[in-house]
Amino acid sequence: MSGATLIDGKAIAAGLRGEVAAAVVRFAGEHGVHPGLAVVLVGDDPASQVYVRNKKRETEAAGMASFEVKVPAATSERELLAVVEELNRRADVDGILVQLPLPPHIDSGRVIEAIDPAKDVDGFHPINAGRLASGQPGLVPCTPLGCIILAKSVQPDLMGLEAVVVGRSNIVGKPVAQLLLAENCTVTIAHSKSRALPEITARADLLVAAVGRPELIRGDWIKPGAIVIDVGINRVPGEGGKHRLVGDVDFEDTRHVAGAITPVPGGVGPMTIACLLRNTLVAAASRRGLPIPL
Ligand code: NAD
Repeated sequence: MSGATLIDGKAIAAGLRGEVAAAVVRFAGEHGVHPGLAVVLVGDDPASQVYVRNKKRETEAAGMASFEVKVPAATSERELLAVVEELNRRADVDGILVQLPLPPHIDSGRVIEAIDPAKDVDGFHPINAGRLASGQPGLVPCTPLGCIILAKSVQPDLMGLEAVVVGRSNIVGKPVAQLLLAENCTVTIAHSKSRALPEITARADLLVAAVGRPELIRGDWIKPGAIVIDVGINRVPGEGGKHRLVGDVDFEDTRHVAGAITPVPGGVGPMTIACLLRNTLVAAASRRGLPIPL
């Protein structure tokens, strides 16, 4: 095999951001509504600050309003819940995202459950998770949605594929498995307690790796021609004392076996913010009972 098709998440995400920006203009023109996204940052974790800054830049570039709420790391859970309640009430806020992780004295589950499900653009609220599991419309988690868009960029109809998801977290593994089921795939979820993982992954026509273990999945774990979506973002030591990013899939070992593969970086990563912008527009429309403009 000469080598896998590279799935260019950067370009596909840019395309989606452009579609959202165009839809925002139409939506504002037709309904006089200017969608807004509020991002809540607790404390000053440097990685979270970078994510929040990127989200603000991309939200504004898509023509939407961006509201940043920064509170100190020592903020109590009660104070944070009050911040969320205030955002729930605000008419100009369509989407609320609380940047995770939260400091250990705050129960993130309780904070997520305090978000109005109609504004839960991360799709983490149990009501939205339940809607996804029961096939009802709702807000869908951004990274899993990005994985499906990337897979469909190389195979528009996923019906009947053997799909294997490695990882069962609430934010990636489980929702991506639900979305694949909704696409009529035959879905297997593998995790840290699964036995004979290479035999399970080798059955996959479509493999989604969301593990957080650098280059765990090797070329000989892959069915020739499979679509491989690598969600993992792992920092490993690189040359000259620097770090580099690698996925959960050994890219060099796998690219000659797979039919199509996402690189890390530049694969799933850029899709997350693009899907967040999409979700904010969807929330702005659906909470007003308006047709979704995408
Ligand atoms: P997590 O730690 O919550 O879950 C990891 C899952 O992998 C668990 O369900 C566990 O059972 C499974 N697992 C762990 N070790 C395993 C092993 N040896 N074999 C099989 N399964 C194993 O992680 P998460 O939040 O789901 O994130 C997974 C990866 O995706 C991380 O690298 C994270 O950085 C990345 N991520 C990327 C994005 C993005 O691209 N925007 C978003 C979220 C997460």
